[in-house]
Amino acid sequence: MTCCAQDATQVASFDEVTRLLEDASTIAVCAHTSPDGDALGSELALIELIETRWPNKTVVGLLADDDVVPRIYQFLPGADRLVRAASYEGSPDVFFCVDLSQPGRLADAEAVLARSAHAVVLDHHPSGEHFWDAGVVRPEAAAAGVLVAEYALHLQGSLTPSMAQCLLCALMTDTGRFQYQNANGEAFRVASALVDAGASPSEVALRVYQSDRLGYLHLSATVMGRITTFERGKIAYSYATSADFAATGVPVAECDGLVDLVRRVDGSEIALFLKEVPGGKVRGNLRAKSDRDISCVAREMGGGGHPAAAGFTVEGDIDQALSVVLPKLRALYAQEEGVR
Ligand code: 5GP
Ligand code: MN
Repeated sequence: MTCCAQDATQVASFDEVTRLLEDASTIAVCAHTSPDGDALGSELALIELIETRWPNKTVVGLLADDDVVPRIYQFLPGADRLVRAASYEGSPDVFFCVDLSQPGRLADAEAVLARSAHAVVLDHHPSGEHFWDAGVVRPEAAAAGVLVAEYALHLQGSLTPSMAQCLLCALMTDTGRFQYQNANGEAFRVASALVDAGASPSEVALRVYQSDRLGYLHLSATVMGRITTFERGKIAYSYATSADFAATGVPVAECDGLVDLVRRVDGSEIALFLKEVPGGKVRGNLRAKSDRDISCVAREMGGGGHPAAAGFTVEGDIDQALSVVLPKLRALYAQEEGVR
């Protein structure tokens, strides 16, 4: 099956990855901390691909830290086999990073990377650090899952239904159900190949977008009620506190979708959602609805990400985080007004 004519540079990089995998007997696969649908879907598909292609190799799938697999992604085939990096003591021949290219995003798994003989990467985040021996980092790819699908098709020409399902989940979640600016032709071509290989868009939609706990919907109502806009409605933000999580019984790790409520405000260009997380910290999700690049603000806050979707974690409470991040968002507009 072919879905996309692959560029020669990418093919050469895939072949280098294959050579390293062929020479390895133990391979660890890991995605980023606070794993989302792309991180988990890509990692699980990659594990199955390596095991199918090289049944005699030992493959371990790692979770970067103590985060459990979020409830909405537990349906992904293989989700129950992932191991916390802190409890894995091996020194693999190859450490395979997917959906990240910054060692800091590996959390506890950074120590496993340090013990590995070689590192390979398939990722779509801009401005990573070049610490790997082989791989592809292509920021215009809509999801890391696009690269995993293309690697699988390059390696063996086909995908199993379970790999296709994992990868469709990766693609649907990282493109916001094909609604974000990154939903390009390649994303649709790969999605089409995944559905042909047995992936079910309706099952992904059911599990990820139509299986909310009641408490989550109540929390959503609180978050929606707090949405505030400024800069003539161009910037919208909201937040959730530890007390909100306690009152609704929603685990902090299950709140990835709340920033999407904030971005719904008509006329808003930038959406910010903040939540208090354990350890006296606040995690921020930033989204841009236009071609404005908000990843620079995330980086200034010690985080990173893509131009239209980025995140950060800071010490303190919601008020302290807002007092630092809101002026930076306003400054994006002040600079523009200055040049007018
Ligand atoms: P989210 O807001 O959904 O957590 O993340 C949006 C995007 O930014 C994802 O691609 C994620 O990997 C990236 N991202 C989120 N937080 C961080 C961070 O702290 N550092 C870096 N480098 N990237 C981040
Ligand atoms: Mn991703």
